[in-house]
Amino acid sequence: MTSSIADNIHRINAELAGTAARLCVVTKTHPVELLQEAYAAGARCFGENRPQEMAAKQPQLPTDVEWHLIGQLQTNKVKLLAPFVHTIQSIDSLKLLREIDKRAAEGNRVINGLLQFHIAAEETKSGLSLAEAEEMLASEEYQQFRNVRLTGVMGVATFTPDEHQLRQEFQTLHGYFDHLKATYFTDAPAFCDISMGMSGDYALAVAEGSTLVRVGSAIFGRRG
Ligand SMILES: *Cc1c(COP(=O)(O)O)cnc(C)c1O
Repeated sequence: MTSSIADNIHRINAELAGTAARLCVVTKTHPVELLQEAYAAGARCFGENRPQEMAAKQPQLPTDVEWHLIGQLQTNKVKLLAPFVHTIQSIDSLKLLREIDKRAAEGNRVINGLLQFHIAAEETKSGLSLAEAEEMLASEEYQQFRNVRLTGVMGVATFTPDEHQLRQEFQTLHGYFDHLKATYFTDAPAFCDISMGMSGDYALAVAEGSTLVRVGSAIFGRRG
């Protein structure tokens, strides 16, 4: 093996040093031993997209891991994660916020959430429009939530080598963040994250203001 998990994490962290971005290591599909290797290399933010898989891995890692859910989440799965999840990056409805608030309250916790926006050209990639997000944020119900805290925005760009298109999509998400921050979160310093950038495009995302890159295959190799 010429390039180990630790080497990859150290290289990416060195690339991010001096930028606004930090690394979320996307560990989905990989066995716990590899997560432990990443942890030993200093990784503390892990992203998983399946609630059951994340809930099974969580007890096998130290308690200072920040667990981030990065995939679409059904409301009936929230209770699996509520005791430990740090951030749910895929908030796409008021219904989901309501369930997270309820389950977090039961455990006396506050769970962070990112609003996921649809920024890609592909129809299949999920997420809110800006209008849908604003409707949620302006609703009376949203104002009542005490146990879910929105900490920023998230987006998945189109799978394309076209750098111009990628930059435009990242700029769109950055623009949404700026608008929401100025309109709904002026008094909320916790609303500070722009989660964008994956293995193939994180350098561009960082150049466009990402604060959180989600990187899997550039660390672990291709998923089996
Ligand atoms: C799988 C996944 C990633 C990581 O993708 P890589 O290309 O392996 O870095 C990032 N974000 C989301 C939402 C994902 O589902």
